[in-house]
Parts: sequence; structure tokens; C-alpha cells
Amino acid sequence: MKIGCPTEIKPQEFRVGMTPNAAQEAVAHGHDVIIQSGAGLGAGFEDAAYEAAGAKIIDTAEEVFATADMIVKVKEPQAVERKMLREGQLLFTYLHLAPDPAQTRDLLESGCTAIAYETVTDDRGGLPLLAPMSEVAGRLAPQVGAYTLQKANGGRGVLMGGVPGVGPAKVLVIGGGVVGTHSARIAAGMGADVTVLDRSLPRLRYLDDVFGDTFNTGYSSAGLLAEHLEEADMVIGAVLIPGAEAPKLVRRDQFPSMKPGAVLVDVAIDQGGCFETSKATTHADPIYEVDGIMHYCVANMPGAVARTSTIALGNATMPFMLALADKGWKQACADDPHLLNGLNVHAGQLTYYAVGKALGIDV
Ligand code: NAD
Repeated sequence: MKIGCPTEIKPQEFRVGMTPNAAQEAVAHGHDVIIQSGAGLGAGFEDAAYEAAGAKIIDTAEEVFATADMIVKVKEPQAVERKMLREGQLLFTYLHLAPDPAQTRDLLESGCTAIAYETVTDDRGGLPLLAPMSEVAGRLAPQVGAYTLQKANGGRGVLMGGVPGVGPAKVLVIGGGVVGTHSARIAAGMGADVTVLDRSLPRLRYLDDVFGDTFNTGYSSAGLLAEHLEEADMVIGAVLIPGAEAPKLVRRDQFPSMKPGAVLVDVAIDQGGCFETSKATTHADPIYEVDGIMHYCVANMPGAVARTSTIALGNATMPFMLALADKGWKQACADDPHLLNGLNVHAGQLTYYAVGKALGIDV
């Protein structure tokens, strides 16, 4: 199969759909890999690294789209890219179609077959192609929160780990899933005093079993949350209710009870945010203040560490990409119901129920 990987063109997107290692694996499986010149630069991969892996470098996205049987990307295809998709072509990337009727219409009109990273599942009910980005965002959250806590950035001027004779920062993590667990581990590793709140008792039991001495856990009731809020130097919002907007768990009228200069990092901002005052920000201007409380609400946090994110995403997508290339999408999806769950569009038909329901299109 001819596998094509164009340069990402969505603003502020520096990741790339295939690493040189992924290209090398695909070539070893007997496939032709075509990479747009410069596609890997944002993630620190030169064209030469792809060539050494056996891939062919092509100048333009038009040529990549025209040549490839399967397009492997990171972000949903932008309008100009959607025009280049054709009938029978396979698209493997993040799509997030439910809030995006224009993209859905264009994909249906193109006649392509589109498999969305975000709806591929695993045996444990997880989302294996979303998890790496939650791991990245989770580990990044205490890092950006610690920076925001610095006085010059508007924060309280508190050092995460304290020093001998001065106590550490208190970090509250709301939601103990993938993001929250990674946030808590890194914050604790920086020396902070960390508490994780979750609504799932099995999850709290798991966290206590695995990380018992590293951080504290609590059941996420409004009362306990309010108690911890008063003490917190940093609050990391990491909740998810699948398929729903994030619940607003911290209200503006609670800010007077908080420490001035405390920092809210709303990782759940891509689902609307879990703090009442959250609004999505960008890497170019990530921090703002409301009533003396600092907010960091970047919706695509993994983009800040494009190299780590690209490699992490590539590790997760590689086995699926190889299965699709080796067997063709029909056989690969027949063999793997989890990959089949990723199928969102085929030959002008929407094939993913939740997207159809959200957009009012028959599935
Ligand atoms: P997850 O499903 O692994 O974990 C979510 C956790 O929230 C679950 O353990 C659940 O029990 C808990 N929860 C639900 N309601 C709660 C409540 N009221 N109080 C406390 N806990 C509650 O999800 P995840 O992968 O950790 O993702 C968390 C959020 O981060 C999602 O909205 C995801 O889209 C977002 N995210 C954002 C970025 C970014 O760049 N901003 C990157 C990756 C993920």
C-alpha cells in the first residue's frame, strides 16, 4: 500500500502523523511511504531521517494526497485538505466529527473511508489513541502550573517542592483518570503535597493501591472539594464525563475563599472546562487572571511538546496503521472490533452512531 503523510496545516500544530520509526516499520512490511517535505520538522524530524528509513520525500501536499492509498495525519483534515481526499482513499487521523458538521459533510462527499483515532477502543474500555495525549497533557499540567505560580507570571510565588524549613505547594487534582493520575505523579515528583479527587470508588481504590504514599485521594463531593480549594496553591481540572460537556466544579463565587494568586489549570477545557471562569487559550497567550486567580486553559496542550507528543502518538497508532496497510481496512476492521469502532465514515455513509446522533444524520 502507498502510505502518505502530509505536513499538518492547522495553526499551531507541530506534530506529524508518522515518525521515521513508523515509516521504517511500514517500509519493512513492504509498503511505500511518502512524506511531504518538512512534515516532521516541527517535531524535530528532518527529511533525511525519513529517507534513511526508506520513505520517499515529496514536495507538496497535493502530490501526497494524489498518490497515497492511505493518509496518516494528526489533526482533522482542514477544508483545503478535504478537497484532495478521493473515493476509496483511507484516512487515519483524529477527526472529532460530532461538533463539526462542515468536516463531516466534506468527508461524506469525498467518498473516502475515515477511521478516527479518538473512537478506537481497547479491551479495558479505554481509548488507546487518546490516552497518550492525556498522558502528555497530564504530565505537562503541573509543569505549566508551576510556571504560572511564579510571582512574575501572576501566581502566588510558591515553589512546588518548598525548601527545608518551608512547606511545599498544595496541589488539588480533580479527576483521577489518565490526565489526573499523570498530573498527580509529576506534581508529587516535584515535591508538592498532592490530593486527587474522583467520583469513582474503584478508581480511588486503584490509585490508593498503586500510589498510596505518593499522593492522597478523596471522594469528589462539593463539600470536600470546597475544603481543599481553600488550601490549594494549584488546582488541576482533569474530569471527563464521556460524551458530555465537563461539569463546572469550581464557581467564581468560591474565589474569595481561595488563596490570592492560586493557579487553575483546566485540562478539561477541550470539553468546555470544569471551572466556571475557564475559556480556551492558546500557547501564544496561555494565562489570564480572574479575581486574583490565575487560569491556564490551553485546549491543545500536547502541541507544546510536539516531539514527545508525536513519538507517543506514533507508538500508539503504529500497530493499527500497520494492520490497515497490511490487510486493507475491511479485513483489519473485521479482525479487530476495536479498530472497527474507529470507523466514522465510509463511501458517503456515516458509520458512527454518536456522531450521527449529534449531527442529526442517519447512520
Ligand atoms: P479519563 O476518563 O481517563 O478520566 C476522567 C476522570 O474524571 C474519571 O476517573 C472520572 O471518574 C472522573 N470524574 C468524572 N466526574 C468527576 C467529578 N465530578 N469529580 C471528580 N472526578 C470526576 O479522562 P482523561 O483522559 O483523564 O481526560 C480528562 C480530560 O482532559 C478530558 O476532558 C480530555 O478531553 C482532556 N484532555 C485535554 C487535553 C488538552 O490539551 N487540554 C489533552 C488531553 C486530554
